[in-house]
Amino acid sequence: MNIPETLSQIGTQLSSMGLGTSTSGNISARDDEKIYYSPTGTPIGKLTPDGLAMSDLSGAFKNDNKPTKEWGMHLAVYQKFPETNAIIHVHPVHTIAVTMRTGSGTNIVLPASTPQCVMRAGLVPIAPYAPPGSSELLTGFKNHLGLKATALLNHGLFTYGLTFDKAMGILEEIEESCRIICLAGFEGRTLTQAETEILLKRKM
Ligand SMILES: [Zn+2]
Repeated sequence: MNIPETLSQIGTQLSSMGLGTSTSGNISARDDEKIYYSPTGTPIGKLTPDGLAMSDLSGAFKNDNKPTKEWGMHLAVYQKFPETNAIIHVHPVHTIAVTMRTGSGTNIVLPASTPQCVMRAGLVPIAPYAPPGSSELLTGFKNHLGLKATALLNHGLFTYGLTFDKAMGILEEIEESCRIICLAGFEGRTLTQAETEILLKRKM
């Protein structure tokens, strides 16, 4: 399967998981010097290989399809972490709920309820709130990039990696951890900083 076909399939998968409702959520993938993005205005579950927008690594677009308005954040990840081949951005409800509780700021990361979340996702910074597609959101995002994932206050989550399998695994682990935090109530015990540091040395 080529990269555009893979993107369509991942979009369908995310949609069937209840993520990417309506036209929210967007994904992208890198194929050597090319980056393919889901287009703006198309539900993530209805992507077609011909409908994807495509740019080079500098962000110059090479076809007439209009990319998601959040394309700048995708490009920022590819530029900062050149080993990235796949990016998922969705708006998972439990992750958003936890960002609303923690807020954003220097050294503020998503609390983790389980060791498996820390080992798979690492530390997940939370970028400050700004309207979707705005230059303020992009700037805040660039200043709070995590190694494998970055949350957006009141908005959602970016996960990324070498493959879509990796990005999907990180997404599932973070959303599951945040769901447990919501179920336990925000007073529930999350992992301490010392416990987290031990786990970070044994990442999956
Ligand atoms: Zn978004």
